[in-house]
Amino acid sequence: MAAAPLSPADEGALILAATNAAPDGILLVDRGGRIVMANAAMESISGYAADELCGSPVSLLLQPALREAHGRHLDSYFQSPSRRPMGMGRDLWIARKDGRSVPVDIALGYTDAQGGTAVAFVRDISEVRRLQAQMHFQATHDTLTGLVNRWQFGQRLEQAIAEAALGGHSFALLVLDLDDFKAVNDGYGHAAGDRVLVEVARRLKSVLRGGDTLARLGGDEFTVLLPQIAQVRDVEQVAAQVLAALCQPFQMHGFELDFGASLGIAVYPRDAQDAPTLMRYADMAMYHAKESGRANYAFYEPPLGARMAEKLQLHERLKLALAYGGLHLHYQPQVEVGSGRIQAVEALLRWTDPQLGEVPPARFIPVAEATGLILAVGAWVIGTACQQIAEWDRAGLPLRVAINLSAQQLRQTDLVEQIERSLALHGARPDLLEIEVTESEAMADPAQARDVLCRLQALGVCIALDDFGTGHSSLAYLKHLPVSRIKIDREFIHPLLHSNGDAVLVQAIIVLAKTLGLHVVAEGVETAEQLGLLAQYGCDAYQGWLYSRAVAPAHVAQLLLAQRASEDSAVL
Ligand code: C2E
Ligand code: CA
Ligand code: CA
Repeated sequence: MAAAPLSPADEGALILAATNAAPDGILLVDRGGRIVMANAAMESISGYAADELCGSPVSLLLQPALREAHGRHLDSYFQSPSRRPMGMGRDLWIARKDGRSVPVDIALGYTDAQGGTAVAFVRDISEVRRLQAQMHFQATHDTLTGLVNRWQFGQRLEQAIAEAALGGHSFALLVLDLDDFKAVNDGYGHAAGDRVLVEVARRLKSVLRGGDTLARLGGDEFTVLLPQIAQVRDVEQVAAQVLAALCQPFQMHGFELDFGASLGIAVYPRDAQDAPTLMRYADMAMYHAKESGRANYAFYEPPLGARMAEKLQLHERLKLALAYGGLHLHYQPQVEVGSGRIQAVEALLRWTDPQLGEVPPARFIPVAEATGLILAVGAWVIGTACQQIAEWDRAGLPLRVAINLSAQQLRQTDLVEQIERSLALHGARPDLLEIEVTESEAMADPAQARDVLCRLQALGVCIALDDFGTGHSSLAYLKHLPVSRIKIDREFIHPLLHSNGDAVLVQAIIVLAKTLGLHVVAEGVETAEQLGLLAQYGCDAYQGWLYSRAVAPAHVAQLLLAQRASEDSAVL
């Protein structure tokens, strides 16, 4: 049934109600630019009451600076009125009564009524604009720290290059990487890692100036752009301040975390003139700084290029070797001086790369330590050694295996659990595993090292102090460490026959070790004469090319079987 036609009065009332119910502002403007009607939504967008708006020029709603131009637009609009939908993408603003401006989108319509009336539909898009700004922020900033992200940093770097090229000035690019951040993440969990990163960002902001750009590229890698540097000394000063700020201890869960950072610096235009090369050089300088010890900064230097390129290549290829099985453990026998029997073996890493050939540990271990890859490599060594221990044990050839640990591994909070898990996984006897730590590693953080070593000892694992004599630690201090063996560095064994001083030193070490109830192993024994002297001094065991180099596991089994056969024949 068709609805009954409305009376003109009812129709007018309904249209008015509908107009006021519209979510967008509706504004009727006459040819003279006067507002003839404004609905309720227009009142809330503009902050004016409808009766203030009606009769006022529409320019009331514009910024004063725009009024004149708008008058001309209005005239030409009425000459050839047309429709315009929303979303034309223009930046339009309404000046509110309270002085604020509101971003709006405006659609236009026209009617001949009343001698020509423009109808503006006005939509408040503050929320859309806010979301757009938020999305832009998210796309250009790191959510965790609120710092500029990698993409945005790239933009700023390009901009800095353009400005410096134009102005003929220099600027510095700093790349910063936290030392041992992975250990924090692994040991305390990612939430703790996040807190450290937020704190680092806070500390960095506190030492940098307003014009500097600070960004987080991802992980624990931060960059800083210092625009307009007058002299290199200024950069040094900032670098030193940054490191000092980061080296303050950090409190977490009642622990005091000491983290440092390494800084690499490249200078435009001195070192390079394009963004990728500047980034690469700053990165290289950062690795160089890391290698020269924690909490250091380094400037890019041209010869670094070749050296660092090699190190980066080693790092990349070592990662591949770890993933695809290019690493092996070889084992070097430790022999009892008195009986000539093999008492243990030391596991030594061997890496044969398809491109680089045989790479000695002395070349790749420092790189792995500088890049943190040592943790993954070390974990692989632990697993492989445990597996080998169990295998020999099952074959009736139980043999103690010593593995080398890096300082970074020693600082891993879950190291003990990692070793315990690995022993259990492979069914290896803990007393057949020995951990070698160097004197300097154990001395770096004596309390922490003592704690870890005590927990390892509690598992039944033995501890040996490697490279003894090179770290200048006092033997008295040894009393406080759960160490059962010391290994005299081959640096002292080598000159044994020619240097009286070294002979006296070796003798003294052996005597003192005995008074502490420690076993002594001499490393790097190459000649029968050296062995003769060591026997005279009362050294317990030796290791070296005189007996055997580090050999593949199958070869170790042969040596053990041959030894057993000769012992059996001696008994018969
Ligand atoms: P290190 O722990 O002092 O290992 C002993 C080194 O002396 C080994 O070198 C071994 O091959 C060498 N050597 C043994 N007998 C003789 C000898 O009679 N004369 C001479 N001149 N040298 C001898 P390698 O295998 O090149 O290892 C070098 C260093 O690399 C090791 O020194 C150790 O610090 C590190 N390394 C090796 N494997 C690992 C590992 O699995 N983890 C860690 N963190 N470091 C490792
Ligand atoms: Ca060793
Ligand atoms: Ca050693």
